[in-house]
Order: sequence, then structure tokens, then C-alpha cells
Amino acid sequence: MRVPNNPLVLIGPAILLVFAASFVAIWLRDRRLGHLLFFCAACLLFCLGTLSQILGVPDGHGPNAVTSAFLYTLSVLLLNDGLLRRSGQRLGPISYLAILGLICGGVAYFFYVDRQLIVRIYIMNFGYGLVCLATAWRLRRLRVGMFAEKILFWTSLAFSLHFFPRTVLTVGTVAPSATAFGASPFWLALQFSLAVLGVMLALALFAVTVSDMMADLRHERSVDSLTGVLNRRGFEERAQELLNSARAWPTSLILVDIDHFKNINDTFGHPAGDAVLKTFGHLLQGAMRQVDICGRLGGEEFAFLLPNCDAAGADAFAQRLRGIVRQTRFDGLPASRQLTASFGVASARHGEGLGALIARADTALYRAKRQGRDRVETQAENPLLSTGTAD
Ligand code: GH3
Ligand code: MG
Ligand code: MG
Repeated sequence: MRVPNNPLVLIGPAILLVFAASFVAIWLRDRRLGHLLFFCAACLLFCLGTLSQILGVPDGHGPNAVTSAFLYTLSVLLLNDGLLRRSGQRLGPISYLAILGLICGGVAYFFYVDRQLIVRIYIMNFGYGLVCLATAWRLRRLRVGMFAEKILFWTSLAFSLHFFPRTVLTVGTVAPSATAFGASPFWLALQFSLAVLGVMLALALFAVTVSDMMADLRHERSVDSLTGVLNRRGFEERAQELLNSARAWPTSLILVDIDHFKNINDTFGHPAGDAVLKTFGHLLQGAMRQVDICGRLGGEEFAFLLPNCDAAGADAFAQRLRGIVRQTRFDGLPASRQLTASFGVASARHGEGLGALIARADTALYRAKRQGRDRVETQAENPLLSTGTAD
């Protein structure tokens, strides 16, 4: 083992350890962020790779070159796998094995068989650059994502690209002897660029992690855990935004209320009622467009806000939903028990607030209930006109 002349060279590994500990600490607080463990492992392995070179462990040029190449390559793979996993993708075991085999095999070949330091340098740097570029390509959607995702995308792209010009521009300065190698412009440029871009990448990873945790909290705050649709607060927030947007005009609201739901609870029990609500929520979500908003306003009452949809369109959609509810078999209910729902539709007037719009749809819903349930009633612009429909 070599004792380093300049203890400052240990700053890099120490920073990597701090990053690794921070990723684990965040993961311990939120175990859903499993990709952070990949970032932690990547930092630890990169730290080990650096230490193996600084301390000369294992001894001898060949074993040291192959061992550090293995540690660095695995570190790069884990970093890329973690980035992909955050976005629901992953790096398969075959990719791991193939890339490790190619890079470490290449380094071993160009040491033991055909000793060429320059080729080893190209294999490692271009190899890592290509692996990171492939990940940036697979994550290109982040360019148009949240602010922190944009930062992560461009930082990881810069990190990927820097391997190519830096290697080409400085490889001519590589010195063959080990001591001169450590002082060569190639090595200094590599250390400096990896330190700067590595820290920037780690900061971008922390920023996107904080932003992920905040998005999770916002989601939990605004989603109804039983049915999966928005809760009242979430619905009101999103609906108000949509109502304020001129591009969403005309906008219509549908109130949906399950008929005789209390009777379901009384006859089959509260858990069966819950199961019905759960299926009902999934059914509503499955029927709507991506731009629509669906929420559970309370109990067995749901609401839709439909952008770019007039009263006639909303009425037709409500009729379709009514048919779907009638045809659906609900878990927890016997096959003979048919569930129905009543619908109240209203189209927003210019300058009308969400509360007033809901009140008008509620009036229509009340009419649907009074007129026998399993019906769609639409609040006409002229309140004297009504377009109630049923079989
Ligand atoms: P209508 O046809 O007039 O709408 O009659 P209804 O029985 O559906 O309406 P009512 O308002 O009389 O009863 C609603 C019931 O919904 C009463 C309440 O116990 C039940 N409920 C509210 N929230 C939940 C819930 O989260 N789970 C279950 N299982 N029941 C709930
Ligand atoms: Mg009801
Ligand atoms: Mg109700």
C-alpha cells in the first residue's frame, strides 16, 4: 500500500462518502425512493476505485488497472441504473454483464496481451461516455419535465459528453511512467472535470430527490386513498385552475351520486360499500379523457370537470357513464344486485365560480334523484328548460 504524499487527494473520496451517506439517509426516511441506494452504491464504488489507485491496492500495475476499471465501471452502471429506475426504467443484467465484460476485458487485454495505455484510456472514457449518453437518450423526456428534472437532464448530458473532448484533447499528454502520469495534464484535467461535473450531478440528483418528495406529498394531500381519484381539496384546486383558463372553454361539470348507497352498506356491510366505492372510482377514471378532472367530493358523490366540453358533450358522457355503471359487476355485491347512479350536469357560465357551478349541477342531480334515479339531468342555460333522460 502506498501512502499518498499529498493528503489533499483524499478530499474526493471523502466527498463521495458524504454523498453516499446522504443518499442512504434520505432513503431511510422514504423507502419508496429505492433508486437512491443505487446512487449510494455508485458513490461508494467510485470512492473505492479512487482509493485503489491512490493507495496502490492491489499492488502491481496490471491488477490495479483491472480492479479500478471494474470498480469505476460498476459505479457508472449503478449510477445509470439508478437514474433509469427513478423514471420507471432499468438497466438489465445482460447490459451490466456485457458492459463490465467489454470494458474490464478490454483493459485486461490491453495490459496483459498488447500493452497500450492510450487504448485503455479510450476504452474507459469513451465507454463511460457512451453508457451515460444512452441513459440521457432514454431519459430525454425529462427535458420537458419539472424544473429539477430539466436540470438533471442537462447536467447528466454534460457529464456524458465531457468524456469525449476531454479525452481527445488531453490524451497526447499522457506520460508512460506512473509518477509522471499522476502529474500529466491528462490526469489533472480528468480529476478536475470529474470533480466539478460529479459534484454538479450529485447536486442535481439531490434537487430532483427533494422535488420528487414534494410531488409525493402534494399527491398524497390531494388524492383520495380509497378510490384513487382526487379528494375534495385536490379536485377544487385543479378545477379552479381549469375554470380560470380561457383555453379550457367551454367547460362542464358533472356530479355523480351512487343510488341507494346507504342500502348497500346496510345490506352487505361497510367493507362491501368500500369495495364498491373503490371499483366505482377506477371505473370513472378509466372512462374519462386525460385532460378531465375527477374527484370524490365526499361519501358516494363524485365530480368531473370536463375542459373543452359543452353541456351536450357532458350530457352524452354522463349517459355513457350511466350505461357503464349499470353494466359493471361490483366486487362485494351479488351478481343480481345492479348498481345505478344519478348525474347532474351543468356547463360553466362566463365568470362563474366553482361553488356556483357545483350548486347548479347539484340542482340538476337533485332533480335526477327526485325523478326516479339512474338518470342524467342537465341544467340548461335557461333554467326553465331541462333535458332529463332515462331509459
Ligand atoms: P341516494 O340514492 O338518495 O343518493 O341515497 P344514498 O343512500 O346513496 O345516499 P345517503 O346520503 O342517504 O347515504 C350515503 C351513505 O354513504 C351514508 C354513508 O354511511 C355512506 N358512506 C359515506 N362514505 C362512505 C365510505 O367511505 N365508505 C362506505 N362504505 N360508506 C360510506
Ligand atoms: Mg347516493
Ligand atoms: Mg350522496
